[in-house]
Amino acid sequence: MSIEHVIKRIAIFGSTGSIGIQALEVIQSNPDKFSVEILTAFSNDELLVQQAKKFKPNIVVIGDEKKYKAVQDALSSEDIKVFAGENALEEVAGMDCYDLMLAAIVGFAGLKPTLKAISTGKAIALANKETLVVAGDIVMNMAVENRVPVIPVDSEHSAIFQCLVGETRNRIEKVILTASGGPFLGRKTNYLVNVKREHALQHPNWRMGAKISIDSATLMNKGLEMIEAKFLFNLDPDQIQVVIHPQSIIHSMVQFEDGSIKAQMGMPDMKLPIQYALAFPKRIANDFPRYNFRKVHTLTFEDPDLRTFRNLALAMDALNKGGNLPCVMNAANELAVFAFLRNRIGFLEITDVIEKTMEKVSFIEEPTLEEYFDSDGEARNYAADIMKL
Ligand code: NDP
Ligand code: MG
Repeated sequence: MSIEHVIKRIAIFGSTGSIGIQALEVIQSNPDKFSVEILTAFSNDELLVQQAKKFKPNIVVIGDEKKYKAVQDALSSEDIKVFAGENALEEVAGMDCYDLMLAAIVGFAGLKPTLKAISTGKAIALANKETLVVAGDIVMNMAVENRVPVIPVDSEHSAIFQCLVGETRNRIEKVILTASGGPFLGRKTNYLVNVKREHALQHPNWRMGAKISIDSATLMNKGLEMIEAKFLFNLDPDQIQVVIHPQSIIHSMVQFEDGSIKAQMGMPDMKLPIQYALAFPKRIANDFPRYNFRKVHTLTFEDPDLRTFRNLALAMDALNKGGNLPCVMNAANELAVFAFLRNRIGFLEITDVIEKTMEKVSFIEEPTLEEYFDSDGEARNYAADIMKL
């Protein structure tokens, strides 16, 4: 059998989420290229069971231990091992039954399983940007030591990655991250003060999980992506620029030393970067919708409004100062978004919580992994106090 025909064995961590579901669609269309070995969810046992019956993985993990029996019973007639709990997620990530982890858990919870996968030599297709925001230096160093590729799934970073193919010896002058601007593009503070959950969840160009949809509405998502880009591509903060591009056709750009700019373009459809990351270095033919220059002929660009969308300014500050500040910012943001989604705080209060927490938690210039975990915990406690959660 030639190398091209070896099936890549995939573990999807976060298979019941927006990215996980789309990844399974990609795999379903390419049964000769991929097999599913591990599926994990946090609490959506029904969908996990449904996915397991269809894709017949070796292992499933349900994060919420209370759901263990339900999953075990539902899969009792299948040859599938069932585990539950946070520790099981990490242990299973270290098993040898797969080649590539799609890291598609949302938030800080994705960090431990991903580190375990890297330390045991698995390739990573990375959707979970928070992993790099929290501990990007440690994650990327571990990847280099273990010689494992970290291939971005986030559309902007996939675009940059694709622009860099064949350019390994050429210096990047800067990367230009495009941002749709989210549902509140052009709005000012007097409007945002009254924004509610349902409204903030309506993204104009993408259908995504709840947390990233709110991050897109506050522009924190672009801030997280600047930090993600720093670690993925080993950039200085001043090499990373953000431009608002509401049509989301150019997914991001790289400018080289000679002034030449490469852009990667296409329809806004996450299945493309997911498929690219799973199949890298090959491209796979598909029938996804194509961009037609004759139909959408206006592509526009503008500066982000940092005075209104202060989360992006806070993230730039964290990017510039480094250390544990991105980790602290991320923890406060996760908790504030959680509270906003439960109507416990207003839209603009998300920013206040993050800002206060960033001021409060002590700065550590070069944290160890343990110090990152401590900073995350401290930031969460402080943010919870402010919000009286
Ligand atoms: P979703 O909220 O749709 O899905 C999250 C997944 O993670 C679900 O499978 C969920 O399980 C699981 N999960 C949630 N919390 C935990 C936990 N504490 N422990 C274990 N598993 C958990 O998120 P998305 O798919 O939208 O996003 C996933 C990641 O990809 C995020 O980091 C996001 O920033 C990134 N990303 C997403 C994009 C998108 O288009 N959606 C685009 C670019 C990046 P359950 O369903 O049981 O709750
Ligand atoms: Mg993105």
